[in-house]
Amino acid sequence: MRAASERIQGLVRETPLKPSLALSERLDTIVHLKLETMQDTGAFKVRGATNAILGLPEVSRRVGVVAVSSGNHGRAVAWVARSLDIPAVICLTRLVPEVKVRTIQALGAEVITDLADQADATRVARELARERGLSYIDPFDDRAVIAGQGTVALEILKQRPSVDQLIVPVGGGGLISGIAVAAHALRPDLRIIGVTNDRKPAMWECLQAGRIVAVGEEATLADALPGDIPPDNEYTFELCRQHVETIHLVGETAIARAMAFALRRERIVVEGAGAVGLALLLEPRTDLELGRDIVVVCTGDNVMPDRLIQLAQEHPDV
Ligand SMILES: *Cc1c(COP(=O)(O)O)cnc(C)c1O
Repeated sequence: MRAASERIQGLVRETPLKPSLALSERLDTIVHLKLETMQDTGAFKVRGATNAILGLPEVSRRVGVVAVSSGNHGRAVAWVARSLDIPAVICLTRLVPEVKVRTIQALGAEVITDLADQADATRVARELARERGLSYIDPFDDRAVIAGQGTVALEILKQRPSVDQLIVPVGGGGLISGIAVAAHALRPDLRIIGVTNDRKPAMWECLQAGRIVAVGEEATLADALPGDIPPDNEYTFELCRQHVETIHLVGETAIARAMAFALRRERIVVEGAGAVGLALLLEPRTDLELGRDIVVVCTGDNVMPDRLIQLAQEHPDV
């Protein structure tokens, strides 16, 4: 992960850690927000994508890359590919919001849209990889991608050595796996808490069952989170099982309120998936044991401004 950290410099930003005065006061503890929303692609995914693509042999890079994505990974892969002047094909499901589809197209990638679900999109992407000799860049279950995402933790520990709890959104688990491996290597005592939305929470269901199960997908404000953990998952399920203390679920209203809170109180734009950590802290609940020094990872800002304004208007009292 230290190697990844060096490799990705230049395309990836070291993002700020912003004190949240509002949350610190409300919860009577110290809360900081890790603003991955400030990456050039609007989400942390650029870390893993950059590390994976820069790790490809020169010949493979020339042929190009293919990825499947709920939006942000596709945008990251397309952005890195454009920066390095290599071809990219991005396969998207029909749950991916229009704003994300358009952004990826604008980056010059070939986009295949309207695929039924993540599993279907993955099948199409892997076929394209075989047919055209493209390198398939998995959105989460890939060593280089996980290592890239783990660099978030290296930054947090440098910026805030006294942190004792990390709150991290969970989709396929690449981000939290990378963060957990890096963080626990340096600080075995650090508590890693996952959060996801309560509509078909794939990793949560798998951890409950103790094995990989299919759950399907449903539309949610946290549109970067849905998608099954594929049955051939190699890394993220096991890493979550070993390193993640617990995964909490948050509902749609809590996510909407958290997005409104981020805008109104913190003056930051956070998309649904990026706001689940804030949602967890904003809802009073007894099953969450708060740390004394908490960092919440705000993972992305790719939301339509009009949608965000509407949500903020619906929640004036956050
Ligand atoms: C991808 C993504 C996540 C989840 O990351 P995983 O590695 O799939 O667990 C969370 N938030 C945003 C904004 C994302 O794009």
